[in-house]
Amino acid sequence: MTSLASLDPAARDALHAKTREAYEAFKSRGLKLDMTRGKPAPEQLDLSSAMMSLPGNGDHFAEAGDDARNYGGLQGLPEARALFAPMVQAPPAQIVIGDNSSLALMHDCIAWALLKGVPGSVKPWSKEEEPVFLCPVPGYDRHFAICEALGIRMLPVPMTGQGPDMDVVEKLAADPAVKGMWCVPKYANPSGETYSDETVRRLASMETGAPDFRLFWDNAYTVHHLTATRHPLADILALCEEAGHPDRPFIFASTSKVTLAGAGIAMFASSPENVRWFLGRSFFRTIGPDKLNQLRHVRFLKDMAGIEAHMEKQRALIAPKFQAVLDALEARLGGTGAATWTTPEGGYFITVDTVDGAAQRTVALAKEAGIALTPAGATSPYGRDPHDRTLRLAPTFPSLSDVKAAAEGIALCILLAGLETEKA
Ligand code: PLP
Repeated sequence: MTSLASLDPAARDALHAKTREAYEAFKSRGLKLDMTRGKPAPEQLDLSSAMMSLPGNGDHFAEAGDDARNYGGLQGLPEARALFAPMVQAPPAQIVIGDNSSLALMHDCIAWALLKGVPGSVKPWSKEEEPVFLCPVPGYDRHFAICEALGIRMLPVPMTGQGPDMDVVEKLAADPAVKGMWCVPKYANPSGETYSDETVRRLASMETGAPDFRLFWDNAYTVHHLTATRHPLADILALCEEAGHPDRPFIFASTSKVTLAGAGIAMFASSPENVRWFLGRSFFRTIGPDKLNQLRHVRFLKDMAGIEAHMEKQRALIAPKFQAVLDALEARLGGTGAATWTTPEGGYFITVDTVDGAAQRTVALAKEAGIALTPAGATSPYGRDPHDRTLRLAPTFPSLSDVKAAAEGIALCILLAGLETEKA
């Protein structure tokens, strides 16, 4: 395709008319497609069907002899912690297994920090004038929603393809008001990028103005590869310890997108001091997590090789959906300059940047044509994308044929919105 910028006015008008016609034809198909949320498809959940009958009648004793049906075991079963230790890159003694949602653990940590402070705090974060978090953009809307809900001011930091722009991060983190930073370090939501070793090293070693600064290291997609390459991630816990900041990282992960999104296992990992703090606060919140679900996961996944083999099956189901979106974008938009997009090698999302000022219009056109997209702006703090250009596509949930149809429609909407925009 020729670039839109090189078209003379007549050629541009002709392409606009042709695209409008194709869009109207698409709309008349009356489809109902949803590409909004990164949810596993039913076939992905079916991969874990065997779990429904685990641990099985009579199999409720943990290795140490504890009855998993009963109260207790605040830190989680040792065998569950051992299972997930290589996944979260932490020793079992420094892992806490929660219930089903890592987002809930992130929320708890921030709520506790606001109410009580964290190790190293001089006072609770809520007693500071205005606690601030650094937010790599594009980022995860629910991280931003927690900050908004709990009164934490957000400062955007651009992403580079290798993680956040560290020159900006180091400058901003020097301010004592900056208490934390959101990081999705591997196959990030939504850009798909993995933080380089250098980025991780700088995050671990940078000077921060706040002595109780925390990295919220949300490693939600650590085993979620989309290619045969299992990209590694530098060990944040070890690097922080080496740099003399052992308490800096709060690591989170879950099996929401490994086994069952509504019935997985969430985990927190950190320094011994932070784990003591976390358990100390958890004590007032629960008499113990769901250990039968922990046992179920241990029986089903067995070990890291079991997790990886299971994720290969996930990949076989979802990689073709990602490819279908990429193919449709290339076919309709390649060379036009109407959009750029990521080619993720893991995770759950494709990020598309339209020309400036065309993202909201694209979402509106898509809605009219029966395609639900994540609202434009969702990937920025406060839902405000100053360039109005970033879209997050989530291709996992719909069937492959629906993904193909939706991607074709989305590409049309992007082109049409681009042609309506002066800058394209
Ligand atoms: N973190 C990231 C980056 C996510 O994308 C998601 C879900 O989309 C979550 C956390 C939610 O995790 P959980 O299901 O463990 O609460």
